Amino acid sequence: MSQFTTRFAPSPTGLLHRGHAFSALTAHEAARAAGGRFLLRIEDIDATRCRPQFEAAILEDLAWLELTWETPVRRQSEHLADYHDALDRLRARGLTYRCFKTRKEILDDIGRAPHDPAEAYVGAPLSAAEEAQLLAEGRPYAWRLSLAAARVALGGFEGLDFVEDGRGRIQARPETAGDVVLARKDVGVAYHLAVVVDDALQQVTHVIRGEDLAEATHIQRLLQALLDLPTPVYRHHPLLRGPHGRRYAKRDQAETLRDLRWRGVTPEALRAELGV
Ligand code: GLU
Repeated sequence: MSQFTTRFAPSPTGLLHRGHAFSALTAHEAARAAGGRFLLRIEDIDATRCRPQFEAAILEDLAWLELTWETPVRRQSEHLADYHDALDRLRARGLTYRCFKTRKEILDDIGRAPHDPAEAYVGAPLSAAEEAQLLAEGRPYAWRLSLAAARVALGGFEGLDFVEDGRGRIQARPETAGDVVLARKDVGVAYHLAVVVDDALQQVTHVIRGEDLAEATHIQRLLQALLDLPTPVYRHHPLLRGPHGRRYAKRDQAETLRDLRWRGVTPEALRAELGV
């Protein structure tokens, strides 16, 4: 049995708030209790939103929380070749297709209002002639996973399951995510693929993260099967809620760890408040 290894994987798109602290502390504490490893991974593939100053702030805030992690820290932007290799493997097996559609066209296709975040888009590969035409016009495209091709490759999704800590085996339902994007038009890679490649390369045995990512596990399990990667155990913790019952979120300008520090809150006081 490999050594218990977990990770905290923030994206440097803003300052950390209590919700991040809870997640990082929960994972760190689990590693400590198991005598295992705690890794930090910087998920910075989205160069349009990630900023070096946020990465620096993450390291500073986590150190303030008295967390320790192994070095070197894996920074996704430095490992794009790993994600491209994985994409190539899926492409070589005919499991992907180019998607030239704009966000608006996709939303029109699935008949949902633009504010609905659920985008279970299932497309269809274009004919060779149509694709050649769009490529000749220089139209940008994303690579999507074809659920239909994946289902054929695996002989169905029935055998796909994963262990959710404390809940036992869960049947994966990758269909609810639709044909997910594996490589975005703008940045050439995408979240699900990068995460499964990294979790495997970093030998993560336990993925501990917020329940907002519970749905992502289903598609990530499918990618693990298609890429022949091991499946970690998953633990999705409840999201921390603020005074108004709403979860903490960057976009709501939740009070940041930096704000807390500046107004004199100690890491001990925060840990006591969060109960970790
Ligand atoms: N980078 C993701 C986030 O900040 C977390 C990914 C994960 O834990 O799998 O929401």
